[in-house]
Amino acid sequence: MKVLKFGGTSVANAQNIALVKNIVSNSESDKNIVVVSALGGVTDLLLNTATLAALQDDSYKAFVKEIEDRHIETIKTLIPIASQSSVLSMVKSELNTLETLLEGAFLIGEITPKLSDKIVSYGELLSSYIISEYFKEEGLGVVHADSRKLIKTNTVNGKTVVNFEATNTLCSDFFSVTPQKVVVMAGFIASAENGDSTTLGRGGSDYTAAIVAAAVNAELLEIWTDVSGMYTANPKLVKQAKAIPHISYQEAMELSHFGAKVLYPPTIQPVLAKGISIQIKNTFDPENEGTIITKNKNEKGKTVRGITHVENIALLSLEGPGMVGIPGISKRFFEVLFQANISVVLITQASSEHSICVGISADDVALAEQAVNDAFEFEMGSGKINPVVVEKNLAIIALVGDNMKSHQGLSGKMFSTLGKNNVNIRAIAQGASERNISAVINKDDVKKALNALHEEFFEENIKQLNLFVMGVGNVGGKFLNQINQQKKYLKENLKLNVRVIGISNSRTMAFDEDGIPLKNWESVLSGGEKADKAKFFETVNKLNYRNSIFVDNTASAEVSDTYSSYLGNSISVVTCNKIACSSNYSNYLNLKQLARTYNAPFLFETNVGAGLPIIDTLKHLIASGDKVQKIQAVLSGSLNFVFNNFNDKTTFHDVVKQAQEEGYTEPDPKIDLSGIDVMRKILILARESGNQLEIDDIQNNPFLPQESLDTTNNEDFFATLTKNESSFQELYKKAVDQDSKLKYVAQFEDGKASVGLQEIPKGHDFYNLEGSDNIVLFYTERYPNQPMIIKGAGAGADVTASGIFADIIRIGNF
Ligand code: ADP
Ligand code: ASP
Ligand code: MG
Repeated sequence: MKVLKFGGTSVANAQNIALVKNIVSNSESDKNIVVVSALGGVTDLLLNTATLAALQDDSYKAFVKEIEDRHIETIKTLIPIASQSSVLSMVKSELNTLETLLEGAFLIGEITPKLSDKIVSYGELLSSYIISEYFKEEGLGVVHADSRKLIKTNTVNGKTVVNFEATNTLCSDFFSVTPQKVVVMAGFIASAENGDSTTLGRGGSDYTAAIVAAAVNAELLEIWTDVSGMYTANPKLVKQAKAIPHISYQEAMELSHFGAKVLYPPTIQPVLAKGISIQIKNTFDPENEGTIITKNKNEKGKTVRGITHVENIALLSLEGPGMVGIPGISKRFFEVLFQANISVVLITQASSEHSICVGISADDVALAEQAVNDAFEFEMGSGKINPVVVEKNLAIIALVGDNMKSHQGLSGKMFSTLGKNNVNIRAIAQGASERNISAVINKDDVKKALNALHEEFFEENIKQLNLFVMGVGNVGGKFLNQINQQKKYLKENLKLNVRVIGISNSRTMAFDEDGIPLKNWESVLSGGEKADKAKFFETVNKLNYRNSIFVDNTASAEVSDTYSSYLGNSISVVTCNKIACSSNYSNYLNLKQLARTYNAPFLFETNVGAGLPIIDTLKHLIASGDKVQKIQAVLSGSLNFVFNNFNDKTTFHDVVKQAQEEGYTEPDPKIDLSGIDVMRKILILARESGNQLEIDDIQNNPFLPQESLDTTNNEDFFATLTKNESSFQELYKKAVDQDSKLKYVAQFEDGKASVGLQEIPKGHDFYNLEGSDNIVLFYTERYPNQPMIIKGAGAGADVTASGIFADIIRIGNF
């Protein structure tokens, strides 16, 4: 004998019920007890209807109509016309009774628990009747059993509990003499001793099935639902979650108690006593083995088997200076909650006994607060205990597994993962069974916490990076293409799953929570909403993804002004925009401190030397205890290009124009030629070497005539270059006469920085610097005479994009 339970989605409509029929007819068992839920969503509809009726809101009638329509449509699709009328008239007559009950509630303007139970029982009453009639039509040899006559309940402490003695006898008597191969019965509903309809709690059809399975000593209990088993986390919230093939009763119980809705928590108790296994299977993928729950403990296997969460939690804390001295406070506290029928989900008590804190359902909070304040009125009046403190909008997340107790470091890993992702932990509890570690967090952090923990404990170190990219021009566009090309490699070799969730240029912005398809990011962006930097940040923050990275590929000061908001919310920042790091020192320092405080890397490798690992190398030197004594560098790819191409056969004007056209200069070439850009770079290197310096402290020896520096637009600027050609030729000639080359050099020594054009003699490290290359010489305590040299292409969109990419990977390995 086997019990098969089909949940709401499995019987939501005629099409799904046909799948259920196939599963039942393929069962190899000699006898099959089929327990069904109401058509998916009908229980909610019934409850809404009842609430509205009790509020004397006659819009409840529209819901009744919806309930009626759904059932009638199901009958019309499943049952052949010839047999339809009797089924329809039976269902219509039941619906009439339901309407009468609702009318009663409407007229009185009130609904009692008894009436509510009666109303809500119609969901399962109707579904089980229709399904059994359909099975009959399909020749299944079926009988419909009335669950109210088989499952009996009592009321204990105001709560409905199953009367197992009566139920077991009724079930075994009934099923031992039932000849049919298939019995269809309603889940969820039962009756009290006096015959009144009762229910077993939301999700209670699982429980009905388990009660019957235990009463008839079934060989197996199958729970058929809309997912392929019990998953490592709720698959609706964690895309990477996987079904757990085998799990113990205790683990399953713990997971379901802590929110794995796929199994109603009390379900395991009855079958556990009989050692009956439960198999959770998917109605929509019946070949899938799903999850088998047995009494066998998970001996080897993974320590953490699943991660769950319970929503809608509030914390209730009782604190006070006098609590240590008064005996029995905890006893009284829990007794009050018990008397008020409030179940405690989680308990923590500080060892000082100064405070007790419990997690309860947020629905109970007003009642609990009142009850506790009343009970401790005297102590509160005398100031020994403070009024209870209530915190709402919380959730519990829990790690569950049989073997967690024998492993050190799991809670450390759990809390550091949450910490890294800026998930604030309000309370912690570890079950005495050590099968569970729970933390109370903000409800808005649930999805992020679940995904971060899942990644940490289940995803073989695959780490997901969620990028938000602002600026998709020359550099940004190349960057997106590089990610697209490297995605597979990163996943397979570096275990990094890089997704771009948001992109923006100055006109539009677009988001896709599943990752923007990078092949056609251009069309996604052009179809996006109006760009707005503040809104972009708000969206990133609200999405609240773990490992979020904001990537700035712009040269905009307004964008760099937003970094502190990102970092302050634990969102990493990667930028090729030099403005923030070369702004005033206090701003630079503040960003670095925010990064440290909020565990969010702030990386800007491309600020100096595009993709060359200059800043990273410097960081490693300093971190390992070295000290920078001197930096000498050619840091402007643009100026290097200009002076490598300028000679007595060209004009300075034409070479600068060419550099601009080929993308070697900033759009405004004066930023490069005036030395500002190089000043910013040497400033950043000096700061990264540990020096407090401002841009105004840097000595700039300009080679441009003052009138060029004074221009305010590109056209005027270029005109002054032509006008001053002879002075540029003079510079060139002087250098050639000295057998030297002109290089724009940045220098830092003894706390002082300077930039300017220099004649570099043959044999010097800078002399042979080609094209737009950069070179940096670090003289340090460890490299006092022979400097450490970094040299290579230091400008261009491709290398800059790959430098940004490298920063992203650094964060991935962080
Ligand atoms: P049914 O109506 O079949 O009883 P439920 O909605 O009660 O189905 O339970 C199935 C749902 O449980 C899944 O669709 C899923 O959203 C949710 N769920 C939550 N946690 C888990 C988990 N750990 N594994 C599987 N499903 C889960
Ligand atoms: N129909 C009930 C509910 O939605 C019972 C169940 O489906 O398990 O809660
Ligand atoms: Mg369910």
